[in-house]
Amino acid sequence: MNIHEYQAKQLLARHGVAVPAGDPCKTVDEARAVAERLFAAGHTLIVIKSQIHAGGRGKGTFTHGFQGGVKLAKSVDEAVNFAGNMLGKTLVTKQTGPEGRVVQTILIAAAEMIKKEFYLAVLLDRAASRPLIMASTEGGVDIEEVAAHTPEKIIRENVDPAVGLMPYQTRKIAAALGLKGDLFNQACKLIAAVYKTAWETDAALVEINPLCIVEGPGGKEAIVAVDAKIGLDDNALYRHTDIQAMRDLAEESPLEVEASKYALNYIKLDGNIACLVNGAGLAMSTMDIIKHFGGEPANFLDVGGGASKDQVAAAFRIILSDVAVKGILVNIFGGIMDCNVIATGIVEAVRETGLKLPLVVRLEGNNVAAGKKTLAESGLTIISGDSMSDAAQKVVKATRAA
Ligand code: GDP
Ligand code: MG
Repeated sequence: MNIHEYQAKQLLARHGVAVPAGDPCKTVDEARAVAERLFAAGHTLIVIKSQIHAGGRGKGTFTHGFQGGVKLAKSVDEAVNFAGNMLGKTLVTKQTGPEGRVVQTILIAAAEMIKKEFYLAVLLDRAASRPLIMASTEGGVDIEEVAAHTPEKIIRENVDPAVGLMPYQTRKIAAALGLKGDLFNQACKLIAAVYKTAWETDAALVEINPLCIVEGPGGKEAIVAVDAKIGLDDNALYRHTDIQAMRDLAEESPLEVEASKYALNYIKLDGNIACLVNGAGLAMSTMDIIKHFGGEPANFLDVGGGASKDQVAAAFRIILSDVAVKGILVNIFGGIMDCNVIATGIVEAVRETGLKLPLVVRLEGNNVAAGKKTLAESGLTIISGDSMSDAAQKVVKATRAA
């Protein structure tokens, strides 16, 4: 699950990371109130930031022509004008795709006097089976570009999860970033706090880009997280009711939201052959075999090891709400699952939805004879697949013909 920048900053602040003062707003009136409060508190410059689950907002463009999803304002009126140009409008960035995202929330915060921008992230290093801290003096820009062209500018430090982050490691990173004196000490504390945020929230990624040296009142320098992104491990969300509440369904694909209500693992893809499979491994090999025979999968859909009739029916509804779908392949191996339950679910779903598209079903395993009988006696036009490759070839052919 991803969360917004303002929410990521709340989690970071809770663990001791310095973030600029600010508040999220959903209306222009709220934006005016927050802007007035920040100026009244003595800030002379504020920043208005579109909150969408995608990066590259600063360089993004709104579909109504307004430039920039991150804007600096010197007055309340200017801030209100920017808020009006962002709220309810569609922002297109390098990461949103051409369709863009509707901005439903903005963050209004005190703007920092930025002296230097760094990059800092904590992520899971799957190859090393350990958390990895990545840092770079090349902050504020695309880190992928830095990794591709000047990989030596990225500092990497693995953390032993059994021991935790050691002070010598934070010092090593701060020194490699070229920091000295008080900034060095601040950076060490901040890196430890960012790591703690990642650890405590079960994050798959915490990214601060940019992490900044800023000039405060009286010229005093400080290190502040100016942008923040957190991606959480869905499998650990049950441990964090407070973070679950941060979920923003508007940022997720409606079909994926519907699927998650039925505990279905659904991911929409670009092809036209829908797949309904039990088990992630079988689902992946089903997509592979569809491609092998020249087709394109429309989705990944794992109904799980012990799917119920209702889940199968929901899976069909979800698959069919994708207008790109021109054919369906059901590939079930009944290990725990009773093939007849699936077959009954399929028959009900086909009747309920009045399915017109070609449907190929391959069943194997537990109680398969009863399952095949249910399908055969249903009177519905269901194409039976004898093996995975037979079923895949049949669905590719039927989809082409449709
Ligand atoms: P992103 O484009 O989605 O990554 O959004 P960021 O939050 O990283 O903002 C983009 C850029 O806007 C940053 O790299 C900064 O250069 C600038 N920016 C963001 N917040 C501030 C701020 O408080 N003060 C100043 N001066 N610039 C800011
Ligand atoms: Mg950024």
